[in-house]
Amino acid sequence: MCIFCDIIKEKRHHIHENRLACSFFDSYPVNPGHVLIVPKRHVKDYFELTKEEKNEIDNEIIFLKSKLDDEFHPDGYNIGINNGEAAGQTVFHLHVHLIPRYKHDVENPKGGVRGVIPDKQRY
Ligand code: 5GP
Ligand code: ZN
Repeated sequence: MCIFCDIIKEKRHHIHENRLACSFFDSYPVNPGHVLIVPKRHVKDYFELTKEEKNEIDNEIIFLKSKLDDEFHPDGYNIGINNGEAAGQTVFHLHVHLIPRYKHDVENPKGGVRGVIPDKQRY
């Protein structure tokens, strides 16, 4: 049983899809417009993806970026994948987080994804 396989199968909250990947809003968004891009095939992490799936995921990212630009007007984006429990993964169907960022959404954004280890975010 996999919640993302269910979402894909039932086409729940779908924003967009292509042949091998689809996208939907994160239920607990970090910021307005936070979307998840997933391969239709159940794989646990990035390292199990085929080149074709990576390519279709990338096409979704590009498409969604322009849709989010129009709808939410963010000032930047973080793109991230948690691979493995130690890296923070909680749903074990690979998903790419596309997270719009807004000026002043945090006091000091310097270091961005380095914040996975909060003490090391700034350098
Ligand atoms: P992870 O920590 O595995 O990288 O991220 C899992 C993400 O899935 C989280 O950002 C969480 O908010 C999101 N999420 C968890 N359950 C659901 C769900 O049922 N539907 C949607 N759309 N997102 C979910
Ligand atoms: Zn799955």
